[in-house]
Amino acid sequence: MAVPDPSSIEIKYKQLFIDNCFVDSVNRKTIPVINPATEELICEVQAAEKEDVDKAVAAARRAFKIGSPWRTMDASKRGKLLEKLAQLLEENKEYIAALDTLDNGKPYFDAVDDVTSIIDLLQYYAGWCDKICGKTIPVDGDYFTYTVHEPVGVCGQIIPWNYPIAMMAWKIGPALACGNTVVLKPSEVTPLSAIYCAQLIKEAGFPPGVVNILPGYGDTAGQAIAAHMDIDKVSFTGSTVTGRKVMRAAADSNLKRVTLELGGKSPLIIFADCDLDYAVNVAHGAIMANHGQNCCAGSRTFVQDTIYDEFVEKSRQLVENRTVGDPFDPLTQHGPQVNKAQFDKVLSYVEKGKAQGARLVYGGERVGEKGYFVRPTIFADVKDDMSIATDEIFGAVQSILRFSDLDDVLERANRTSYGLAAGVITSNIDRAFTVSKALQAGSVWVNCYDIISSQTPFGGFKQSGQGRELGEYGLQEYYEVKTVTVKIPQKNS
Ligand code: NAD
Repeated sequence: MAVPDPSSIEIKYKQLFIDNCFVDSVNRKTIPVINPATEELICEVQAAEKEDVDKAVAAARRAFKIGSPWRTMDASKRGKLLEKLAQLLEENKEYIAALDTLDNGKPYFDAVDDVTSIIDLLQYYAGWCDKICGKTIPVDGDYFTYTVHEPVGVCGQIIPWNYPIAMMAWKIGPALACGNTVVLKPSEVTPLSAIYCAQLIKEAGFPPGVVNILPGYGDTAGQAIAAHMDIDKVSFTGSTVTGRKVMRAAADSNLKRVTLELGGKSPLIIFADCDLDYAVNVAHGAIMANHGQNCCAGSRTFVQDTIYDEFVEKSRQLVENRTVGDPFDPLTQHGPQVNKAQFDKVLSYVEKGKAQGARLVYGGERVGEKGYFVRPTIFADVKDDMSIATDEIFGAVQSILRFSDLDDVLERANRTSYGLAAGVITSNIDRAFTVSKALQAGSVWVNCYDIISSQTPFGGFKQSGQGRELGEYGLQEYYEVKTVTVKIPQKNS
């Protein structure tokens, strides 16, 4: 597969998508979309505000009405539409990946992998559509009782910028499989692939109003979605700070259902009995992938003291060879941070790390003079209370901490308000099970890291979130359970 020339990528859609039509925002405001590799303007897209959210919610409500084409559609037909959407994504894979590389800065082949993964995800949820069903329940008395799984209704969905097209599919896949309608807001930083995908949703045959895509800023469009009185559920992925605002807005409006996928500060524990080169590689990938802009990033690497120095040295050798540069260059492994704010944030944590006494082993500086490139960074001799060990940096900054004792490291690994993911690398099976049982995290990886599949639930313990996405568990967040009880016979006999 050839890598596209970024200057030849045409931006085909820049408007809001409401009721299967591309429209300007009511107030004609726009969002500048910036290429983080060059700091140049790619284009301006329309910015939704409250009035546009109202229009989109009205369209989604109409599409959800009893008797509408969507509500009367056979469940198996919904599955066919999702399959068709997956097929259209396959046909447009290279273009969509190029859009994600353009406004996000991730290496092109990583972006292609993201699209491939969501084709799989949409096919997976397509298969579920006609298998979402309740139970019959044996109750006392002359009653026949059953449950039905009904769609929640109009779902607001708010997504971040780190995996733009993937986050969109994670949201719409289960929502549509259950028969809901959607008002989705992509991140203002990376709106391009979601807007393009709107056209594919229309082409796939989804009726008007079923999916509405509203690029817009968080404190306007996002806030309007979270606080809307006619949205039945909001599903949010982003930072813990914003997650709190979304939950508060939901509570203060109509108590809509809320699911949250939030941040993390995930531990990866490496025991001395590991295969050292393998462990160094896994730990490197766990933090460096997607430039560290990954909610599951293994950002605290705990290494047992007897292998600590060798581990640090091998990690340095590995990171030195990581190619940083143009994300459209096929040899690039590491592109720019997504925007100036992230770039500044990462560099400010490097300064904190140094000031608080951690040992800078590699990186920690800008690469080049244009673009938001930060050299991948390793700190050793990191202590638990240093900011680089407590805060989610969302950058490629590996903090390597030393431990000697199993109980001690478990206590330290869990000493965080987050609980999204964790990992352990060991050749001892008892230790693997003991550690995975003790770690307080929604996903635990043993002798691997960041293995996520459409079939398995994903989500956080503690302040990393509420609810689960993906797999069968992900569907549960998108239906209500109704209990129907029928008296048999109708009259007392
Ligand atoms: P963010 O919280 O700044 O923004 C996320 C989304 O929320 C954006 O669309 C933004 O416009 C919107 N938003 C901002 N303010 C809002 C408000 N007041 N009301 C409603 N919406 C609002 O997060 P980000 O910087 O885009 O993404 C990085 C964060 O996302 C990290 O903390 C990361 O860990 C988290 N994340 C979590 C997961 C997960 O599955 N747990 C996945 C990806 C990213």
